[in-house]
Amino acid sequence: MKLARFPRIRLVHAPTPLEPMKRLSEALGGPNLWIKRDDCTGLATGGNKTRKLEFLMADALAQKADTVITQGATQSNHARQTAAAAAKLGLACEILLEDRTGYAHDDYRRSGNVLLDRLFGASVAHFPVGTDMDAAMARRADELRAQGRRPYVIPGGGSNAVGALGYVACALELAEQANAIDLPIDCVVHATGSSGTQAGLVAGFEGSRSGIPVLGIGVRAARAPQEEKVYALACATADLLGVAGAVSRASVVANCDYVGAGYGVPTPGMIEAVTMVARTEGIALDPVYSGKGMAGLIDLIRKGHFKRGQNVVFVHTGGAVGLFGYLHAFGPVLEA
Ligand SMILES: *Cc1c(COP(=O)(O)O)cnc(C)c1O
Repeated sequence: MKLARFPRIRLVHAPTPLEPMKRLSEALGGPNLWIKRDDCTGLATGGNKTRKLEFLMADALAQKADTVITQGATQSNHARQTAAAAAKLGLACEILLEDRTGYAHDDYRRSGNVLLDRLFGASVAHFPVGTDMDAAMARRADELRAQGRRPYVIPGGGSNAVGALGYVACALELAEQANAIDLPIDCVVHATGSSGTQAGLVAGFEGSRSGIPVLGIGVRAARAPQEEKVYALACATADLLGVAGAVSRASVVANCDYVGAGYGVPTPGMIEAVTMVARTEGIALDPVYSGKGMAGLIDLIRKGHFKRGQNVVFVHTGGAVGLFGYLHAFGPVLEA
């Protein structure tokens, strides 16, 4: 795979640690659980989007952009990491936030990621749920171009083939770490949303014939459309890397049974997972992605989907800052 031929700006504190979760594994009595600490990517409290931004921001600079525009939900981790990367590189940053949950709570609208977006100097505009956010970004880019500026539009979640290269790099990094400690990985599990993370991991593992399967736990869409979206992006990413055809449809698997009422809406399973990982491992997950991803992993272990003796790696994709936007959801924890 031709990964090194793409422009890249190093933003990630790599390699992120691969650590055993001994107490969580014991508490669940199932497989050996490991955690790939992509919450420790370093920039702006970390998270998975920083890996994508290494390639996206390099592309923006190659195109001589002076401004980046991106979009996400109000508590978008992607927006926060983009704002920080732009600050570090001296670019202006415009963030368009879709009010996807309708929460009016002050913590949700102003704290957590939103506080950091503003701290990093990004301009932030709020849009009602259901807005065509891609069209809104295109309109704003046109306005800026009319003023003589050079905008670079980053899709939601940084999920295009260029961004997914960041998770191809993660797949190679993780396979190397596992080899170094003689760890045969039976499955990599993580939360899947805009799809770049899973697409990059699958393209990286399949393109390098590592034989490591990936299971995405959905946070928004139903299974069929989520798998189609991941598969399309994984194929586009493999094309870009010069390994067209490396990704089989069967290698793209998403379980979307843990979304609950909708994107960004807390579930009892998420609260349990966040609390359990905090109290067994001293690790903070997030309420929108890694909390639901872990809720799915815990439930699948309880149902016997993973067996004793297997090695399962959970990719912690970050986002714990979002906890401060969800104080309202943690009443039982706060009052206990
Ligand atoms: C964006 C995000 C994800 C999902 O990654 P995608 O590439 O959008 O599928 C998972 N976890 C966290 C914390 C995120 O911010």
